[in-house]
Amino acid sequence: MKSEYGAYGEYGAYADHTDQYVDGGWRPSLEAGSIPVLDPATERLLATVPAGGAVDVDAAVAAARRAARAWGATTAAERLVPLTRLRDGLAAHRTEIAATLVAELGAPIAFATAVHAALPLAVTESYLALLDGYSFEERVGNSVVHAEPAGVVAAITPWNYPLHQIVAKVVPALAAGCPVVLKPAEDTPLVARLFARLVEAAGFPAGVFNLVTGTGPVAGAALVGHPGVDVVSFTGSTAVGRTVAETAGRGIKRVTLELGGKSANVVLPGADLARAVNVNVANVFANSGQTCSAWTRLLVHRDQYEEAVALAAKAAGKYLPGDPADPRTRIGPVVSARQRERVRGHITGALAEGARLVVGGTGAPDGLDTGYYVRPTVLADVTAGMAVAREEVFGPVLTVLAYQDEDHAAELANATEYGLAGGVWAADTATAARFARRLDAGQVDLNGGRFNPRAPFGGYKNSGLGRELGRHGLEEFLQYKSLQY
Ligand code: NAD
Repeated sequence: MKSEYGAYGEYGAYADHTDQYVDGGWRPSLEAGSIPVLDPATERLLATVPAGGAVDVDAAVAAARRAARAWGATTAAERLVPLTRLRDGLAAHRTEIAATLVAELGAPIAFATAVHAALPLAVTESYLALLDGYSFEERVGNSVVHAEPAGVVAAITPWNYPLHQIVAKVVPALAAGCPVVLKPAEDTPLVARLFARLVEAAGFPAGVFNLVTGTGPVAGAALVGHPGVDVVSFTGSTAVGRTVAETAGRGIKRVTLELGGKSANVVLPGADLARAVNVNVANVFANSGQTCSAWTRLLVHRDQYEEAVALAAKAAGKYLPGDPADPRTRIGPVVSARQRERVRGHITGALAEGARLVVGGTGAPDGLDTGYYVRPTVLADVTAGMAVAREEVFGPVLTVLAYQDEDHAAELANATEYGLAGGVWAADTATAARFARRLDAGQVDLNGGRFNPRAPFGGYKNSGLGRELGRHGLEEFLQYKSLQY
C-alpha cells in the first residue's frame, strides 16, 4: 500500500481528498463542502477532506444495513480472518500512522510512535485473543442464551487519541458481528482515512465498515439520528454527549458515552512524594494535556504542599515545547488555535480567581510564535471552588490542591461533575486500594500502576455511560436472545 499522508516529504504532500469510504470502496462525497486539515505546529494546510452530509450518511448506513445480516451470521473464527489482517496492517503501517499523528495532531514523534501507533495495535491484539475463546452462548437453566450482534453501529470519535478511539469502537463492534459507520473528528481525519485503507486491505465484506468525514453538527448529528442505526458509540465532550444521548434515546438506540474528565491524583502521607509528583507531571503534559483521563488535579497533604509544588515546578521545567517531528521533543502544540485560546483562557481565569502561577502562563513559549503552542503550566493555591478545579481544560495545565486529612482528600477528589479516572499513592498498595474504593471514578492507578488495555475503561457520573476495552467493551455491541427448551 502506497503512503499517502503526512506533513513531511517522505510521507506525501498536500492532497484534496473528495471521497468517502462507503460500501467497500472509495466513492465521491455526495456533498461539495470540504474541511481543511492543519498542521498544528506550522499552521500549514495539510489536506482537505469532504464535509459529508446527510446524503453521505444515508448511503453509508444503507450499506451497513445491507451487510448486517450476513456479517452478523459469521462465526467468530470467520471474523478473526480479516481482523487478524487488520492487526497486521496496523503493525506494518506503524511508521505512517505515527507520522500522520505528528502532522495532523502535533503529537511528538516519540509519543506518536509509543502510544498513538502502538496502543491501537495492543487493543486490536486484545480483541483477537478475546474473540478466540469467547462463548457467544450460555446455558441458564432450561434456556440457551445467545449473544447476538446489536446491529448497525454509529461510531463518533474525537481528535485527542484519534486512532485509539477509532479502534476501541470499530474493532470490538466488528468482532461482535456489527457493521460500522465511523464519523471521525474534524481535526484529525487523515488517520481515519489511513485506518479505512487498512480495513479495505484486510478484506472485510462491502458495507461492514464505512467512513464518512464531516462536521459534528451535520454528519455526526445525521448519523446519531438515523433510523437505520441501532447503537451509538460516542467519545467526546460531555456537552455534545448529552445531545447525542437525547437523540439516541428518542430512537431507542443503545448508547455508549466516553466523555470528559477532571481526574484527581491523591498522594497520601507516607507515599513516595517525588515519584508521585514526577509521574503526575508526565501524565498531565503527555499529549499536550489533551487526555480525557489526565490527572489534572494533584492533591497533597497540607504539610507536604510546598514541597510538592517545588517538585512539580522542577519536573515541569523539563518540558520544553518544540517541533513534534524532533525525536527529543516531549511536548508539542495543542491541536488547534481554538484549543490554544481555550486553554489560555482557563489559565487567565484561574489567576483572576487567585491561583498562583508556578511555571508557564498564557504567552507563547519562547521562539514559538507560529503553531498552537501553550506553555506547560503549574498552578498552586487552587481551591475546589475555582473553575480550573472543576472544568476540563484539555491542555498542559496541572493544578495543585491541599487537603487536611483523608476524608477531606476523598471529598475534594469527588468534588467535580466528572468521574473518569484517578491516581492514588500511599506507603503500600493495600492502603492505596482502600482509598481508591472511595473515589467515584472508573479507573484508578495505584502507586503508578500501568494502563491496562484489557480492563474496562469508562466513567462514573458525567464522564459517561458504558465501558470500552476488553470483554466489557465487546459486550456493549451484543444483545441477548433466550431460547427456552
Ligand atoms: P466534541 O464533543 O466536540 O467532538 C467529538 C466528536 O463528536 C467529533 O467527531 C465531533 O465532530 C462530533 N460531534 C460534535 N457535535 C456533534 C453533534 N451535535 N452530533 C453528533 N456528533 C457531534 O469533543 P472533542 O473536542 O473532539 O474532544 C475532546 C473531548 O473528548 C474532551 O471533552 C475529552 O475529555 C473527551 N474525551 C473523552 C474520552 C473518554 O474516553 N472518556 C476520551 C477522549 C476524549
